[in-house]
Amino acid sequence: MAVKKIRVRIAPSPTGPLHIGTARTALFNYLFAKKHKGLFILRIEDTDLERSDPKFEQDIIENLKWLDIKWDEFYKQSERIETYKKYLLKLLEQGRAFYCYHSEEELEEERKKKLKEKKPPIHICEHYQKPRPKNQKSKVRGIIRFRPPKKKIVFNDLIRGKIEFDSELLGDFSIAKDLNTPLYNFAVVIDDYEMKISHVIRGEDHISNTPKQILLYEALGLPIPKFAHLPLILGPDRTKLSKRHGATSIREYRNQGYLPEALINFMALLGWNPGDEREIFSLKDLIKEFSLEKVQKSGAVFNIKKLDWLNGYYIRQKPIAKLTELCIPYLIKNGLIKPKFKTEQYPPAYGAYSLKEEYFITETKEKITTETLKRIIALEQERLKRLDEIGELAEFFFKDKLKYNPDLLKWKNMKKEELKNVLNKLKKLLNEIKEKDFRAEKLKNILMTEAEKLGDRGKLLWPLRVALTGKKASPPPFEIAEILGKKKTIQRIEQAQKIINRP
Ligand code: GLU
Repeated sequence: MAVKKIRVRIAPSPTGPLHIGTARTALFNYLFAKKHKGLFILRIEDTDLERSDPKFEQDIIENLKWLDIKWDEFYKQSERIETYKKYLLKLLEQGRAFYCYHSEEELEEERKKKLKEKKPPIHICEHYQKPRPKNQKSKVRGIIRFRPPKKKIVFNDLIRGKIEFDSELLGDFSIAKDLNTPLYNFAVVIDDYEMKISHVIRGEDHISNTPKQILLYEALGLPIPKFAHLPLILGPDRTKLSKRHGATSIREYRNQGYLPEALINFMALLGWNPGDEREIFSLKDLIKEFSLEKVQKSGAVFNIKKLDWLNGYYIRQKPIAKLTELCIPYLIKNGLIKPKFKTEQYPPAYGAYSLKEEYFITETKEKITTETLKRIIALEQERLKRLDEIGELAEFFFKDKLKYNPDLLKWKNMKKEELKNVLNKLKKLLNEIKEKDFRAEKLKNILMTEAEKLGDRGKLLWPLRVALTGKKASPPPFEIAEILGKKKTIQRIEQAQKIINRP
């Protein structure tokens, strides 16, 4: 028998920005498809007109692209209404589907009553296979429901194993508001059939929909796809991941300066592991390694420290020119630099701020060359975990007036007099170095020799670092001095002298 072509899909509803859970489902589907040389389909489930918004559809598309999860086919449910209608009419003709004319208030009342009696809050409709009741308020247009046959529904979930449901617990479930407005459980069945979906891989929160969908496949005489339900993503407190735990949309992570490579790697490990200790995986590696057998049943805990660690790793892998381009929008956002041509693009897309553009330091209006920008970024690359940290880490390169507590200049229990002497010494030494020799190596040689003479290097190097950066931690001061240049370096020593002399 010929092996059926693998066709999988992600079916997001555009009712919010691309959620990390949806992105993870997209990734697992994509990996499964690519591993088996199959196709990955993107289907926008926008039949709920009240809750759907084209701006979210855009967000989903844009951010899947940003993650580099590419689809082979694209559909929108709102363009397929005629198709659903055809199948709805078929079920109505067969008498399997029917109009229910109860008003929302009546249904709500029934629901409350059942809950009070500790019965499942389902609706078993007396309008089944009956004409429209005469006494019914004309306002009620009726919705279309499906009457399940009495049976046990059993399916073999590829991740969770055998799952059983009793159809009597489903009640007469709704499948459409009217002929032109199918509801999720119905539209999804028609689409998965028509799009020849071989495997439905989706979040565990959809398990309870699966028996309804299986009954609809059976009623229409359609082949049933295989199902695989992915474990939920949990917050650190082991409850379902939500806004309470922090960012949930890909857009937010992107704005914070996470790289797509890091998010892909991180999301792959939310419920899947390679079976050994490896943790670093590119999209290519994942296509090779992924299998549904290695997806766990239990919830996957979202660990932001791991994401930060992975992001730091991918930041360190970036070529400097690329990383600089990625950091530029954040330097702009922090008000440190300005592009010559005003670009409004935010969030930053790759290449949105190219190194070919001219940039100026906001405070001094001086031009800053892309060479200098690259050197700054290269110095911070090691320490950077998220792109949005660059502003704070590197601000002293762009701000001449540093603000810091004068005591910060003191190494250990240094006295003010001693500090004054050290600053004088630094100024003298730096002044003696020729402009062309103002290079990190040379500065290091001279200043280190001098620092050794003091018996404790910190006595010279600490005040130097603080004078140049206003911070306790920074890249080596020699590198910073080289980038700042002789004039600015000496100015900062003078600034430190003024700061400690302030009454
Ligand atoms: N529109 C559904 C959702 O966004 C799709 C679920 C499914 O994959 O069947 O959750």
